[in-house]
Amino acid sequence: MNQLCRIRVRGQVQGVGFRPFVWALAKRLGLRGWVLNDAGGVLIEAAGAGLDAFVHALRDEAPPLARIDAIEVSPLADADLPDSFEIIASAGGEVRTRVTPDAATCPACLAEIRDPTARRFGYAFTNCTHCGPRFSILMELPYDRAQTTMAGFKLCPDCDADYRDPADRRFHAQPIACPVCGPRLWFEAAGQEVPGAALDLAVDALRNGQILAIKGIGGFHLACDARNGAAVALLRARKRRPTKPFALMGTINMIRASCTLSEPEATRLQSAAAPILLIDRVTDALAPQIAPGQDMLGWMLPCTPLHHLLMDAFQAPLVMTSGNLSGEPQVITNADARTKLARFADGFIMHDRDIARRLDDSVERITAHGPMVLRHARGRAPGTIKLPPGFEDGPQVLAMGGQMKAAFCLTREGEALLSHHLGDLDDPLTWEEYTRALQDYGALFDHQADLVAVDAHEGYRSTQAGHAMGLAVHKVHHHHAHLAACLGEHLWPRNGGRVAAIVLDGLGLGPDGTLWGGEVLLGDYADFERVAWLEPAPLPGGDQAQREPWRNALMRLDAAGLGHIADRLFADAPRAVVRQAVAARINAPHSSSAGRLFDAVAALLGLCPKQISHEAEAAMALEAIARRGCNPQPYDLRHSQIGEIAISPLIHEICADLEQGRAKASIAARFHTTLAQIFAAPARRLVDRGDADAIVVAGGCFQNAMLLECCVNALAGYRVLSHKRLPANDGSLAFGQALVALAALSSTERTPPVA
Ligand SMILES: [Zn+2]
Ligand SMILES: [Zn+2]
Repeated sequence: MNQLCRIRVRGQVQGVGFRPFVWALAKRLGLRGWVLNDAGGVLIEAAGAGLDAFVHALRDEAPPLARIDAIEVSPLADADLPDSFEIIASAGGEVRTRVTPDAATCPACLAEIRDPTARRFGYAFTNCTHCGPRFSILMELPYDRAQTTMAGFKLCPDCDADYRDPADRRFHAQPIACPVCGPRLWFEAAGQEVPGAALDLAVDALRNGQILAIKGIGGFHLACDARNGAAVALLRARKRRPTKPFALMGTINMIRASCTLSEPEATRLQSAAAPILLIDRVTDALAPQIAPGQDMLGWMLPCTPLHHLLMDAFQAPLVMTSGNLSGEPQVITNADARTKLARFADGFIMHDRDIARRLDDSVERITAHGPMVLRHARGRAPGTIKLPPGFEDGPQVLAMGGQMKAAFCLTREGEALLSHHLGDLDDPLTWEEYTRALQDYGALFDHQADLVAVDAHEGYRSTQAGHAMGLAVHKVHHHHAHLAACLGEHLWPRNGGRVAAIVLDGLGLGPDGTLWGGEVLLGDYADFERVAWLEPAPLPGGDQAQREPWRNALMRLDAAGLGHIADRLFADAPRAVVRQAVAARINAPHSSSAGRLFDAVAALLGLCPKQISHEAEAAMALEAIARRGCNPQPYDLRHSQIGEIAISPLIHEICADLEQGRAKASIAARFHTTLAQIFAAPARRLVDRGDADAIVVAGGCFQNAMLLECCVNALAGYRVLSHKRLPANDGSLAFGQALVALAALSSTERTPPVA
């Protein structure tokens, strides 16, 4: 290699300790030159015999939080380099220093807080350039301490020296702190600080079966001893949360004591993102009230020094559920915690480092078919997504997302920024937060929307807000957005041809004005048509049909001429009233929703209460029991491959199995394999005929790993695209909306407007 080079490094390379890493590497290899941050990332000019090794090491030894997209090396004929290697101030021009996601405590910091001789021994706010809070403390860009919630903590001389020393792993670590100068931890009960060591007091309270509110990275959690059934039951009673599973925090060994933990799962738990991971449970070592009826437990590892220290002292798994009033967002301020969480918590672990924005815990799962994201939040946001080929230029789009699992998306210069999970916009506080986050991300991404993309459903608050912006609006049909989001995640080119898409979802408005949710589409980013769909059924009571699965079972049984079975199974339910309303077409919209079919079958098998207490309860119960059914043969149905897919034959088969006393696990498993076959057939046919080049599977039903695996098996030999890095549910809807809106523009319209 040339002895003198300019090296451009692109990607997530700012605010992650990249310059000091380059500096140390150059020193080691005896290079001279300089490194700086600029608008394009990191720029290096270097000279010396070790350049070759240097360029390789840039990638191989990069700091843990760096993500390198490209390293471009160009030889220089001549340059005026210093005699040593220096970190120099940023070059002129715009520096869009982006912020990275919050990162779990790194091994070096963990060792330090456990080392009695270290300055930060036992210190709950220890961090460095490789770990610690980022997005959750950021108030404004650029990402400097003064623009974070650490602004009020003046560095002590020791921390200041660490901060200025390029050889220290805290060089330019903005949230750097120590017991002398940083945030303070305390324990509170009955509105008063309790004298004593906060963590000792907390451990005593937990051992006594008490419930604590703990201020974490992105909000407050409510915690209790996961082995103590009475404590968990008390938490359920106080939160009025009868069945929705609680997440757990524990060490790898604690997880292994109750679950089968695979290597990929352990690796993901230990990643900087530190998500909650749903893991198969094998023993009932913990309180049964944690996840009633579920065969999986949601686990996360301690992800901050505070949580590590608590876990070191408590030595047992903790329930960690979000600290909020039912339906509201997680509480983030001390004041809100005192007023809103006092009814749940006996004590509080408090501190004085403010949380700038709420970030729920991310939730993921690792399936036989790869990783699955259920909730995109802490540790994942804000991460940019590359747009597929053909979308490099174009106006800046703001896509508003859906209603229930709301998240929005911004596009700019070939990249998309998908917001973190915001939640159900029906809740006024979540709505407030959504509107605030729109401003927040707009400023972070320096985004000026030219075009707004919305769901076609005018009842969504996100859609209404999009129309109110006074910009050009593009309406996107719900399931087209699901198709596009999955294509986009796989970088399917804009002109890459059409695909078949199996979209199985809750409810979304279709172009015919009815509610869809179980379709095979043929289309691309720009356009789509519906090829096959589930025979629609009424949703008696509209929203009520989502909360009461038996209503869906009643409709499917009646349609199959099996009303007498419904009369027996749902003897106590108001069947007559519901049937009358449906006959009179009162509040009973028809829908092809696959989600409601899952509800119907779960109710038919008696797997869910009359009224469910959380959105996915019935479907989760059905998946959980289906996973225990061995070697399930699909039902032998002669279903049509195109057009409406009759469901009554399937309902007949299920009832026949029930009458014969077949195990529910086996029936549930047969339902999964059959449904996969039903949808795979038309999709395969589209590819066989040459109409489609690949098969997309997307929509909220594919959070069900068993359904996903059945579909993938039924599509063996075909190219299948499913979500791996974005949620299959409405959490990625906005990303798809943005792509559809961009694709709808003609090539002349795609030129960005002149400012
Ligand atoms: Zn660290
Ligand atoms: Zn200090």
